[in-house]
Amino acid sequence: MQPEDSVIVVGGGLGGLAAACTLAARGHEVQLFESNKWLGGKAAVLEAEGYRFDMGPTIVTLPSVLDAIFSEAGRELGDQLELVELDPQWRCFFEDGSQLDLVADVDEMRTELSDFSEVQGLAEGYRGFMEESERLKHISDRFFFWHPVGSFRDMMGLEGSSIFSSIKAISTMKLGHTVAGRVRHYLRDARVAQMADHFTQYVGSSPFSAPAVLCGIAHMQTTEGITYPIGGTRAIPVVLEELADDLGVKLHTNLAVRRILHEDGGVTGVVTSDGERHTAQTVVSGADSVRTYRELIGGEVNESFERSRSCEPACSGVVLYLGLKRRYDHLSHHNFVFSRDAEEEFEAIYEKGELAPDPTCYVCAPAKTEPGVAPEGGEALYVLVHTPYLRPSHDWTTMLPEYRATIIEKLERTGGLEDLEDEIAYESALTPQGIHDRYSVQNGAIYGLASHGRFKGALKPSNRSPHLKGLYLAGGSAHPGPGMPMALMSGWIAADAVDKDLQQY
Ligand SMILES: Cc1cc2nc3c(=O)[nH]c(=O)nc-3n(C[C@H](O)[C@H](O)[C@H](O)COP(=O)(O)OP(=O)(O)OC[C@H]3O[C@@H](n4cnc5c(N)ncnc54)[C@H](O)[C@@H]3O)c2cc1C
Repeated sequence: MQPEDSVIVVGGGLGGLAAACTLAARGHEVQLFESNKWLGGKAAVLEAEGYRFDMGPTIVTLPSVLDAIFSEAGRELGDQLELVELDPQWRCFFEDGSQLDLVADVDEMRTELSDFSEVQGLAEGYRGFMEESERLKHISDRFFFWHPVGSFRDMMGLEGSSIFSSIKAISTMKLGHTVAGRVRHYLRDARVAQMADHFTQYVGSSPFSAPAVLCGIAHMQTTEGITYPIGGTRAIPVVLEELADDLGVKLHTNLAVRRILHEDGGVTGVVTSDGERHTAQTVVSGADSVRTYRELIGGEVNESFERSRSCEPACSGVVLYLGLKRRYDHLSHHNFVFSRDAEEEFEAIYEKGELAPDPTCYVCAPAKTEPGVAPEGGEALYVLVHTPYLRPSHDWTTMLPEYRATIIEKLERTGGLEDLEDEIAYESALTPQGIHDRYSVQNGAIYGLASHGRFKGALKPSNRSPHLKGLYLAGGSAHPGPGMPMALMSGWIAADAVDKDLQQY
């Protein structure tokens, strides 16, 4: 293999690591540059005073995607990670004091809903919603997942389908409908609708603007389940790093890529922060896709990219890491403490660009599953509240103390976490500014680009750049989108596209 045949991966988040492992498993020489001193990006860990917190992702869905990456190298995921299935998947707390568990089994859920609400036909409505979710998931499987898609045109003729049958299938994606519209069509109880809306919080977008195809997330979660890796979600990048190392990927940390070089419409290499120039005709960027085009490439290539699509960031968020002296036994592993009014909340975050006055708090209580995350009897409580992406007027040094008080009060009032303030032995926080600075994302966005738009909202920048030959994109701000499984899948798709393209030379 010539030096110019080696592939450079920018960024060692889940997308970059998945791309590097897949490429190396297929025999390519790979170098990966990560600007931080750890690999895994947002899947980072915070350890302090006997507590261990996953700093970013906590809900792990679709383990089959990680499995597929390990299979590329002929390895069994089960030999590397201990995954515990969690059911109930979420415990939901509502403002009126009611509580509902989301369980995986649809019939069990229907029985629960009959007891939970007096709304007629709710259990049947839930079945209808899950059936629609399944249909939409199958369309995504055929036309969206595991392929480098950036436009409707890219979906045509996939999986051996004729153009005609592709158009027919794509037209059943409930184009023109939103998630909130489909949810409320089936689920006439406002609390249950609010719960189902929150599947789109996995992509940091408003259910009132997100396309209906994202309802497919409900089916993905309930069929494959939610799992917890012992060691926390951090265990996932750890095993990927080991795999990459084993496969011979050259891993460089603390070394950022400053420029992606190109000539005559094709990539020629990168320049790293130490001033070194590295030659390569193929670069996979696992860094934020918009910042890749804007800051690492620029010029006409970026203009062409920005003309082709909306670059609206997804939401950001505040995370409180609370080391508690006690556990709250009424909590499940994953919990949602819902806002008083879903529309008010989503309008504030996604339309006005303001903090929700009464926010939904996602609460993770992992000591239930892995007691070692806290000193005996304690809890490493993780609280995530979605916020607007960073605006120039947002100063989180002054915004955090006030919003923290709102969050703690909300958890005590609606989540039943009595005297929470008094139980805190250790505390730390991550703000939108912190997310922006640590992970080099656009405007502090947690989940890449917003999935807004009834028709094209689900489309993200293609993994095979149509703007620059030799450039490929991986990660949560590229196709198929954010969240751990999708970021991993994007890495696989980018690697697969590179592999196919290199075989043509
Ligand atoms: C608070 C929070 C909660 C979340 N909760 C969940 C959850 O429960 N479940 C779930 O599935 N997902 C969740 N997510 C989303 C999930 O973490 C992301 O979608 C996923 O980890 C993104 O991976 P990535 O590889 O695309 O990006 P990143 O993890 O951001 O990795 C990109 C990497 O590229 C590096 N980089 C950037 N620019 C350069 C450069 N120029 N040179 C070198 N390196 C560079 C960065 O330092 C970073 O390490 C959450 C995220 C956050 C922040």
